[in-house]
Parts: sequence; structure tokens; C-alpha cells
Amino acid sequence: IDFGYTQVLKQDKVKRVAEVFHSVADKYDVMNDLMSFGIHRIWKKITIEYSSVRKGQKVLDLAGGTGDLTAKFSQIVGDDGLVVLADINESMLKVGRDKLRDKGLFNNIEYVQANAEELPFADNYFDCITISFGLRNVTDKQKALQSMWRVLKPGGRLLILEFSKPQYQILNKAYDLYSFTMLPLMGKIVANDADSYRYLAESIRMHPDQKTLKKMMEDAGFVDVKYHNMTGGIVALHTGFKF
Ligand code: SAM
Repeated sequence: IDFGYTQVLKQDKVKRVAEVFHSVADKYDVMNDLMSFGIHRIWKKITIEYSSVRKGQKVLDLAGGTGDLTAKFSQIVGDDGLVVLADINESMLKVGRDKLRDKGLFNNIEYVQANAEELPFADNYFDCITISFGLRNVTDKQKALQSMWRVLKPGGRLLILEFSKPQYQILNKAYDLYSFTMLPLMGKIVANDADSYRYLAESIRMHPDQKTLKKMMEDAGFVDVKYHNMTGGIVALHTGFKF
């Protein structure tokens, strides 16, 4: 029997995620560099390489936030292509849009406020979908994966870049220590918001590990699903295709 408790927990999470990203939007980029010692740029660069996106294609950068991947894709697909930056949070979308416009990128980018669980796009529309450090914030991940599958073209590729499970016990311990002490501390100093960064550490620990996420992608219909550990599995890139 479900006394509605699951529903309450779900609503709590949606509210919490909204608050976190409203609160961190302005400081998001600088915090990303600080917390990852700049390494997130390398993880993203590798993601772009694995995407094999070409000129003229349509790309969805889901939970795209401040648009790091969108910026790169916009240059790759050129004027005949399209990049849609979709995010549920208007503060993140605004910071992203302002940043990309300042860089002179606007010809082939569209901004859409959308929930990954119910994507407002036609079936079989995108050549490639990326979701980078976004999936762990989504409440119903399986529903979101199914929604991504629907809007991807047959032959299209999904790439999920996300924190995962470190492969070595010692790395796991050090990483736990770092995330539960340093992240809230840095959040407090730089963004005056320790709580949001405590949430970040918790959400990383709760996120499905490499094999579980692979299985979830397969359950949603993706084929040829593989994952590539980066930085000892602190982060993993999962890739899969729609047949
Ligand atoms: N992709 C960017 C990057 O790699 O730097 C931003 C990642 S940021 C950690 C996570 C983003 O996921 C936030 O912008 C947040 O608003 C967005 N998000 C959270 N839940 C979402 C959902 N259900 N649907 C779409 N976006 C969501």
C-alpha cells in the first residue's frame, strides 16, 4: 500500500532541485571549475568526441544548464544544424542563454524550458541527445530515458555524462570525504550556500552505478549500450543507440 508517501517524496525532490539550481545559477560555472579542478572541461570534451555529431545535425542538450556542450555543438553543426538547450530551470536557462549570446552564438540554438520526463518534441527528431550531469537530478529517471528514446531518430545516439561509482575502494573513500566536507565548504565560501552543495554530494551518492544505469538504458529500449569510466569511475559516460 502506498499512502501517498512516494508522491510526497517525489514532490520534495522536484522542489529541492528547483531551489538548488535557482540558487546556484549565477555561480554555477565558477563552482564547476573549482570543484572539479577544471577537469569537467575534459569530461565534456570527451563527450563531444564520442558524440560523432556532424554538420547539419539536430542535437538536444538536455538539462543543458549554462550551455557548455551546447556551445561546442553549435559550432560543429553549423548554420544548417540545430542545437536545442532544454532545461527545467529558468534561472539556469537564462544564465546559459546570456553566456552563449555573449559568445556570439545564436544562429542555430533554441532554448526550451522542459522536464526531461516529458519532452515536448516530435518523435524521431534528434540525431543526438546529451545529458551531462543532469540525470541524477531527474525524479523519474526511467521515464526520462523513455522520453529521450522517443524523440531520438532511429540510428541516433544518446550520451549520458554523470557522476558514477569510483572503481577503487581508496578513491571511493577519499571522494566521499571530499564531497561531504569540501563541497559544502566551497559552496559556503563562494556561493554562500552550503546546503545546495550538500544536496549535490548526496545526489551523487544516490545515483545508480555504471551497471545499473546501463540496464536502465537497455530497459528504455537503447541498444549497444556501453560505458566508459573517466577519472577512475568518479564520472562515467554511457552511450547507447536507438535501433
Ligand atoms: N549540463 C550542464 C553541465 O554539464 O554543466 C548543467 C548540469 S547541472 C548540474 C544540472 C541541470 O539539470 C540543471 O540546470 C537543472 O535545472 C537541470 N534539471 C534538473 N532536473 C531536470 C529535469 N527533470 N528536466 C530537465 N532538466 C533538469
